Formats: sequence, C-alpha cells, structure tokens
Amino acid sequence: MTYLAFNTTDARTLLYLVAAIIFIFGLKMLTKVPTAKRGNLVSAVGMLVATLITFSYLTNFTWYGLIGAIVAMLVGTFIGVRMATRVEMTQMPEMVALFNGFGGIASLLVAAGDFFIRYGNASTAFKHEDHAARLAEAMNWNALLTTGLAILVGGVTFTGSVVAFAKLSGKWPKLVPDQPVQFHGQKFLIAVMLIASLALCVLMAMVSTPAYALAPVILIAVIALALGILLVIGIGGADMPVVISLLNSYSGIAAAFAGFVLNNTVLIVTGSLVGASGLILTNIMCKAMNRSLLNVLFGGVGAPGSGGSGATAIQGEAKAASAEDAAIVLEAAQSLVVVPGYGMAVAQAQHAVKELADILSKKGCEVTYAIHPVAGRMPGHMNVLLAEAGVPYEQLLDLDDSNTTLAQADVALVIGANDVTNPAARHDQNSPIYGMPILDVDKARTVFVIKRSLNPGFAGIQNELYFTENTRMLFGDAKKMVTALNDELDQM
Ligand code: NDP
Repeated sequence: MTYLAFNTTDARTLLYLVAAIIFIFGLKMLTKVPTAKRGNLVSAVGMLVATLITFSYLTNFTWYGLIGAIVAMLVGTFIGVRMATRVEMTQMPEMVALFNGFGGIASLLVAAGDFFIRYGNASTAFKHEDHAARLAEAMNWNALLTTGLAILVGGVTFTGSVVAFAKLSGKWPKLVPDQPVQFHGQKFLIAVMLIASLALCVLMAMVSTPAYALAPVILIAVIALALGILLVIGIGGADMPVVISLLNSYSGIAAAFAGFVLNNTVLIVTGSLVGASGLILTNIMCKAMNRSLLNVLFGGVGAPGSGGSGATAIQGEAKAASAEDAAIVLEAAQSLVVVPGYGMAVAQAQHAVKELADILSKKGCEVTYAIHPVAGRMPGHMNVLLAEAGVPYEQLLDLDDSNTTLAQADVALVIGANDVTNPAARHDQNSPIYGMPILDVDKARTVFVIKRSLNPGFAGIQNELYFTENTRMLFGDAKKMVTALNDELDQM
C-alpha cells in the first residue's frame, strides 16, 4: 500500500480525534438556541477536517484518484449549498429526510466497497508472497459482521428516508400516499425479513470467507432496501416527524458500523453521536405524540386501528370575530399566552407576533409562548422562528408549564396552530390523535384562533376547539391578522 507521504497513522488518528472533539462541541452548542447557529458552523468545520484527513487514506495513489475525490467533494458541496440555501423553512423536514437517506446509502456503499476489496484480495491472495497476511485480513470476521450490519441499516435508512421524503413532499401521491399503507401480515413479514437479514449478517461472520459471503451481502442489501420501504410506508404523515428522527438515528448507526468496517475512529464517534442523539429525540417526540417507540420501529402508527379511524362528528358552530373585537379584549388582558403553530411559519408572522407582545407588555400584560414539541413541521421549529424574531428564550414555555399557565390565562392567542390544540386528543377515542398530549388552549378564559379557514391541519381532522363557547375565530393570513391587531392596539 502506498500512502501519501505527508501523513503518518498516528498523526491521522490524532487529527481524527480533533475532528471528533469539534463535533462534540458543535453538538453541545446546538442544544441552546442562542449558540445553535455557531454550533452548526463548528460542526461543519469538524466535518471539513475529517474529510481532508480522509484524503490521506488514498491507497495506490494516482492523480486520477485524487482529482476524482476533489471533483466528488466539489459536486457534493455545490449540491449541499444549493439545497440548503434554497429550501423553504416549511420544507425542512423533507430535506432532513433526504439527507438521512444520503447518509444511509453512503454507509451502504462504503461497506459494500470495502467488502469487494476484501473479496478481490482473498481471490488473488495466493499470487502474493504475503498471501497468509492478505487472506487473514480479508477474512476478518468482525469486519465481515459489521459490513453486513452497515449494509442492513444503511439500506433501511436509504429507502425509508426516500419514502418519508415522498410522503412529506407529496411529490408522488399516487406512488407514495400520505395515508398509512398497510396489508394483512405486514408486521409478520417485517419481522421475518429483519430476522433473516440479521441471520445473514451472522452467517457472513461465521463463514469468514468473502467468496461465500458474496451471496449474503447481496441478499442483505436487497432485504434492507425492501425493509426500509415496508417500515415507513405503513406510517401516516402525521407521525412522520418521529420517523424522520428515527431514520436520523439509523443513519448515524449505519455510519458507526461503516466506521468499524474501515477502522475509522471519527466515523465511529460521529455515527454514535448521531445515533444516540437521534434516539433521544425520537423518545422525546414519541412522548409528545403519545406513541410507543416499538410501534414506530415496526410501523403502523397513525393507522386505522392504532388509535381510531376518525374523529367523532363535532356539534356547534364556529364564531368569527374581527381584529377590532380581539384588540379590545387584548387591551384589557393581564395575561396572554401565544400558541404558535405551522401557520405562523407559513405566514412568516413571527416578527409581527413579537411586535404584538411588545405592545401588550408595555400595556402591562404578561406575555408568554406555549411551545408544543411537534408544533410546525420539525422539532424546535417554533423555537427557531421565535428566536429569530428576538423573543427572549425565558418566555417560551414547555408543554407542562404551558398548560399550567393556560389554565389561568386571560387570553390564549392561537396563531396557525391546529392539531396541537385539539381537545379531542384528551377524550375522543375515535380520533387519530387520541392520547397525544396537547396544549390545553380551551382552558383559557378567552381563546382567539388566527387561521384562514376551518380547514384541518396536518392530521386531517377537524378541531373541536373552534366550536367551543369561549373561542372566537380570526379568519385570515397570520401575518396580516397580527399586523391588523397591532394597528388596532396602537390606536387605543
Ligand atoms: P397543523 O398542521 O395542525 O395546522 C396548521 C394550521 O395553520 C392549518 O390548520 C392552517 O389552517 C393554518 N395555516 C396555514 N397557513 C396559514 C397562514 N398563512 N396563516 C394562518 N394560518 C395558516 O399545525 P400544528 O403546528 O398545530 O401541528 C403540527 C402538525 O404537524 C402535527 O400534526 C404534527 O404531528 C405534524 N408534524 C410535525 C412535525 C414536527 O417535527 N414538528 C413534522 C411533520 C409533521 P388554514 O388552512 O385554515 O389557514
């Protein structure tokens, strides 16, 4: 093997360690809104360091190889920058899904590539003087085991993420419908495929001969790609955030396995970080949506039978109000809880909302924000938007504190939130969102809801809140309506 001369194994390991430490610092910074942007940048620097060190692994160095690697890096950078700068905030979850998929397929290809190098080495070992060493290296059982696992998890992540992307973006509604697609015996089939692929991984390690492992490798890849589709197709769009978080974790696990295959420290460290943090986030989201992790892991959440086929018909009539009516009530309020949701993101109303809070605070009203963990279309969506508008972090309340505050609030102002405020989740066993912890907006003295119509939200069900006695609808675009409220209050 010929290595580029400027790097020794020790130096490379040390630099990988530096990259891993940079990642850990970046991740830590991502946990707080004020440092999150910098955390992203720091992690990107870590990735650049790790990528550059990887060039020193170029074996059998040729200029063609080096130029190919640089071109690949430039093309990747161009696509990444283009996608990241053009994506709308509302398309973020589907982009994350796609990136998870890229991570999965990269791990699959890396592991498969390494396998074929071993396969080639084993086949030609006898031609070389050091054939015993070459053969031992090619037959390394733990490398073969982790190869199988990297291909399995990487394949599931890739096709699962593509299906999640298709469901969220609605690009191919006929091919990949938003509704859960289920058939009799689906879970059994998933279990059989999973057991079979794991058994094939063990078999690969046991035969410890690349020649015999070729068929299992191909079989594992095929099963994994099919398994990813089967696991995600059975899940409804409303549960997609949990799935994406889980796929994010899978992409990390696949990368960690690929790291074991290549004996690459930084890949093991970063893969483990992504895998663990993704699992923690999945757990938090499962709790926020009242789903069991097992149910998400084996598909079928949000489907008929997993919580009901539809909501019970709603009685009563929704009552509309004008910006002027609402401003009169707000002017007299001592406490206001703002409940932001996806509609605030669509309308980009966060700056107008901050202005409203400033006007009311000056009038002596205590303003807080009730944040539901899955409001919007990605974890932390509302936090990011409100932080961007300069809302102090202390004013953002989590689910429990929000509900304590809402029960005593004079006014709750719902801005483009729907599913996360639906009281049916508390009592209607026929509702698909039954059991999901919600913001108890209906418990506030007066509720104003800003949205354009009575149309349902992401889960596709009507919201009981709009038909309760203490709720008034402010029909209109969130930004225009909040601006109208600000104008009215300014004149008072
Ligand atoms: P919803 O999707 O339930 O409702 C959003 C509401 O916003 C709609 O009913 C819509 O009503 C209104 N709206 C849209 N545009 C505007 C606008 N310009 N001005 C005013 N209102 C507008 O949002 P929630 O935030 O309450 O709930 C999030 C949902 O998304 C949950 O079901 C969650 O499971 C799901 N989800 C969450 C993800 C996450 O990670 N946070 C990711 C993916 C899905 P109208 O059309 O009448 O205006």
